[in-house]
Amino acid sequence: MMDITYLKGVGEAVAAKFKKLRIHTVEDLIEHVPFRFDDYSKITPVNRIEPGPVTLQVKLGIPKGRYTRKGLHMTECLATDDTGSVKLVWFNQPYRANSIKDGQEYFVSGEFASNYKFFAITNPAAELVSNFPINTARLVPVYRLTKGLGPTQVRKTVKNALEIYTPVESLPEWLLDQEDLMPKGSALQEMHFPVDHSSLELARRRLGFEEVFELSLASELNRESYRQNHSLKIPFNEKLVKEFVAGLAFQLTGDQRKVAWQIFQDIDAGTPMNRLVEGDVGSGKTVVAVLAAIGVIQAGYQVAFMAPTELLASQHAKSVYDLLETIGLHDKVLLLTGSMSKDQKSKAYDSVKSGQAQLVVGTHALFQDKVEFNHLGLVILDEQHRFGVEQRKKLLSKANEHPHVLSMTATPIPRTLALTLYGEMDVSIIAEMPPGRKPVETDVFITEARQKVYANVTQELDEGKQAFIVCPQIEQDEAGRLSVKKIHADLSKKWLKNYKIELLHGQMKADEKDAIMQRFERGEIDALVSTTVIEVGVNIPNASVMVVEGADKFGLAQLHQLRGRVGRGSDKSYCYLVLSSNDEPTKRLKLLSHENNGFVLAEYDLEMRGPGAIYGTMQSGALDLRVAKLSDVELIKSARAAAKQFIERADSLVKYPQLNERVSTLRKITNLN
Ligand code: ADP
Ligand code: MG
Repeated sequence: MMDITYLKGVGEAVAAKFKKLRIHTVEDLIEHVPFRFDDYSKITPVNRIEPGPVTLQVKLGIPKGRYTRKGLHMTECLATDDTGSVKLVWFNQPYRANSIKDGQEYFVSGEFASNYKFFAITNPAAELVSNFPINTARLVPVYRLTKGLGPTQVRKTVKNALEIYTPVESLPEWLLDQEDLMPKGSALQEMHFPVDHSSLELARRRLGFEEVFELSLASELNRESYRQNHSLKIPFNEKLVKEFVAGLAFQLTGDQRKVAWQIFQDIDAGTPMNRLVEGDVGSGKTVVAVLAAIGVIQAGYQVAFMAPTELLASQHAKSVYDLLETIGLHDKVLLLTGSMSKDQKSKAYDSVKSGQAQLVVGTHALFQDKVEFNHLGLVILDEQHRFGVEQRKKLLSKANEHPHVLSMTATPIPRTLALTLYGEMDVSIIAEMPPGRKPVETDVFITEARQKVYANVTQELDEGKQAFIVCPQIEQDEAGRLSVKKIHADLSKKWLKNYKIELLHGQMKADEKDAIMQRFERGEIDALVSTTVIEVGVNIPNASVMVVEGADKFGLAQLHQLRGRVGRGSDKSYCYLVLSSNDEPTKRLKLLSHENNGFVLAEYDLEMRGPGAIYGTMQSGALDLRVAKLSDVELIKSARAAAKQFIERADSLVKYPQLNERVSTLRKITNLN
């Protein structure tokens, strides 16, 4: 690792700025790939210039500096080629006058536009034709920046870095050949300063492939080592399952049956289950979890059913109790949460330890050392992304032998992607919704129409219904976007002043949030103004309206999840998406008013987004992709296949130190062993 100060022009002060971008070493800098390119590659003769971005190849006249009437410094200079001349203007860059070399040829790139009284290119970049251009006459890389670190400086530093540092090849030779991948060194060079669009695409493919390959290899290896464990064999209890299903108030959907069947096979296999069930909000995951639990309970083992909040845990405990009543297993259910009294807790601990409680529904309180199980056989994690790997391991360590793990999530991730991101798990998808669900009526409004939105809200409130009002952020930001605090204050003074409204956001303490949610559930609050902290799974049937302020700041999948918090009762429900401007709503947002399938919306979201933040997961950050697009199904499929091939060929990671290091870092993030 080479410290960044090793580079020309990077002293302690500049290094401190790079550190803000989490760039400490030369390697980090090279991995800091541009998020976009501006195309200045085409050179235009001066007499063909049209308004817009242009690049010229010109000689520059003697620059003249002066002050405008408003006191701005202005440098003017004439740029000339064989076909004519055009004026260049720089504001507040007096050094320009001294940096222009007479008689030399320059590339000049910038925006040609009408400026006050004349047409000119304002604040262009200029570079000697004899140098390797980084700001002009090419696809110009655009980087994430920080205060005091400008685009030109970052480009210059990256160029210096690429000159002194040769990246070593990290992938096996056979893989490069087979997949026709660009070597690492050229790919990184092209990723910053591409020759043209097609070489940039090849570089992206190479680096994106590598990211997904590493991720897949890590999860495949984790999966293999996880399967080495022995686990309880729990036979399918046909009689009990039939009795349970017959006692349900509804018919299971085809997908629920299919997934339950996969789980029955998993837990009877002798190796520990590690399965993720993905299903849209309201698709009926809870009953599937209970189906998994009954065989385990009947066989005499215990189940830990984890929920991320007190409210969810108590809702689960209640629904699980009700479901198990028909087969007489309800008295095995126990709720264990942090807010219980000391006395209650100590009783609960005893009952978990003795094995009397066989289905323990709980929050993070279950991770506590004091909680000892008699014989834990199955761990169910609802909203699994809310639990870090350390927490999951903590729970698993409470078992005598490796327990089965069933994770559930309402985050709709398309199958191919889920298999890659969560490759260490088997993935089941519940795509089918129970019949008879009424879609939430969804409409988009411009800012000006807000009053009408809240008039509709008060109508619902007057009928005794409740409302969720969601805002993008806690505090007002520089752009003046609406914050949850401001909206709460405004609504309490104005449109909702006659109602009981409360504020809820992520900076509040967990028990404070929980207490408010519980009051909302009891109907003591009419409208809850919150950030996105309200949990995916909460069930408040009396809430019939959801308002999303600044809806254009959210992804489609996220908006879909938000609206899933309403429409849980028998009455019609509404979702009002309020834009942060008066601009015409985008096609993207309009899609929500007629599309109710979370997976379709998620796919659409992925198309629109660049390389991927895998949002909403505890691991995001470390697992985020920098180059690969999550929507690039072909790339993901081939990189995943290559990872399996690597293992089948018994190729050794030790031969590829860089790959080895990345893969072991990634393995630590998802490994349950
Ligand atoms: P989620 O997948 O969001 O966790 P839940 O398990 O909370 O969904 O189920 C939502 C509601 O749908 C519950 O009230 C549940 O009883 C009901 N439900 C589940 N499966 C079915 C079904 N097959 N038919 C009708 N209702 C169902
Ligand atoms: Mg749920």
